[in-house]
Amino acid sequence: MRMLAEKTKRTIYTEAMEIFEHAADLIGLDPRVRLELEEPDYEHIFYVTVKLRERLVPLPKEEQKRYADLPESVVTEGLEPLADGRFIIRGKALLRSNVTVRDGVIRLAGNGLYRLEPAQVRRFKAYRVQHNQARGPYKGGVRYHKEVSLDLFKSLAAEMTWKTAIADIPFGGAKGGIKIDPRHYSKEELERITLRYMYRLKDLVGPHRDIPAPDVGTNPEVMGWMFRQYSDGERERHNLRGVVTGKDVRIGGSEGRVKATGQGLAYCVEDWYADRKQTVAGQTFILQGYGNVGSNAAEILCSMGAKLVAVNDADGTIYNPQGIDPVRLTAYVYGNPKNINKSIAGYPEAEAISKKAFWETQADFAVPAALGGEINADIAEHLKVKLVAEGANGPTTPDADEVLQARKIELIPDIIANSGGVTVSYYEWLQNQRMEHWTEVEVNDRLQRAIKTNWRIIRDIAKNQPRHNADYDSRRYCVGREVDTRTAAMVLALKRIEAHYQLEGFSQ
Ligand code: NAD
Repeated sequence: MRMLAEKTKRTIYTEAMEIFEHAADLIGLDPRVRLELEEPDYEHIFYVTVKLRERLVPLPKEEQKRYADLPESVVTEGLEPLADGRFIIRGKALLRSNVTVRDGVIRLAGNGLYRLEPAQVRRFKAYRVQHNQARGPYKGGVRYHKEVSLDLFKSLAAEMTWKTAIADIPFGGAKGGIKIDPRHYSKEELERITLRYMYRLKDLVGPHRDIPAPDVGTNPEVMGWMFRQYSDGERERHNLRGVVTGKDVRIGGSEGRVKATGQGLAYCVEDWYADRKQTVAGQTFILQGYGNVGSNAAEILCSMGAKLVAVNDADGTIYNPQGIDPVRLTAYVYGNPKNINKSIAGYPEAEAISKKAFWETQADFAVPAALGGEINADIAEHLKVKLVAEGANGPTTPDADEVLQARKIELIPDIIANSGGVTVSYYEWLQNQRMEHWTEVEVNDRLQRAIKTNWRIIRDIAKNQPRHNADYDSRRYCVGREVDTRTAAMVLALKRIEAHYQLEGFSQ
């Protein structure tokens, strides 16, 4: 099988599946189970269309000279700024007598020159990949991003199959989304795009079929729109609440869900140190990505006494060896409406450094929590940390993995380190089914037990240390020799999935 993968062209998917192939070889995975898992059950590709509003687009520099004499227009209402510098025009904002438009160009007071872009209809490519459902309904996030592809969603969907098995929750794996840069669209446009996406997905998802959740570029509000579309016209809407997770807590979301991925990562890091008879307190770390995962992981780790010394995001990098206070950083990024890119760049209590210097910062551990493929072999060669705890999905390339192993830098792989989100998604779904509402303390108690138990089993597999105690039993998972933690996590996933096929059988 490995030979087969080597002969085919290397893609994001084949690369992501290398670890699967490796673990499958190692445990002698049942050949039919292997074939079931090597490709997704279903790959849905479709298009959503939407009518956009009129907008103002900054005029390119080379055209600006021609309009040097255009007077300023004061438009006080009806313009909605977008994160990319454009404006959406609502109603008749530009039809007033004091507004001057020439050849479709306007000079906005205090803002410069813009070209009027008429309302138009657009088509977006959309996806839902359903990888496997042997252990339960398909489960996985919805990503709105300009760089997505079938290949990427296939690998992310497969990763969800492994992750739900490792988290030991009764779900399978899926992933999907839309090829779109959400920064170019207004909230109202994104709402209409989402409603159309869910309209097309209606027959493919459901509380017992496939359960989407937020991912990059989507949030609880988007889940609310998806729920509304799915349950539209149903009198007993409450029965359908479990169709999406990551909802606002006021409409059936779970306490602790927003922080769950960062919380789970912090539990893993805490246990990694506990295993060495140390604590998180006093450990320094660098963090890439200050979104949902990164900012919450930072706040929780620092509340445990860790010190954040450098942060990198899409727009900049900051460094302060005395420590960066994540509560103040979060207020700077998310509490200030003027910080339109929601970026750490320009944070006054730290100095700006280069991205290269960020990866070379001396610290005890690193948390990549942005996008995939960020730690390549070259970066891995220069890291000055003892541990990488993967918040993002697939942040370390396979080549970099080899470098980390050679340099004895330890790894808490993504499929366990960021499984807190999907675990609490399962708690949300359970609460929805049971019409219950748990407190954050109840949620975190369960999450802590679950994530630490599964992480300890992975550690036992890695160290080839079969153990049986009151909390867990790792005896049936160890493979008779030591393996790296990423392989150990995959072994755990495959053995749990294989058990379903072996004990439940195939329907022909
Ligand atoms: P988010 O959109 O809230 O934040 C993403 C962050 O990454 C932002 O700070 C952005 O500036 C930064 N970023 C983007 N491109 C970058 C680049 N090229 N270089 C440096 N920084 C960059 O996303 P999120 O929900 O925090 O998710 C982050 C990662 O964690 C993703 O890989 C996602 O799949 C994974 N993940 C998220 C969850 C969850 O519950 N949100 C669960 C599991 C895994």
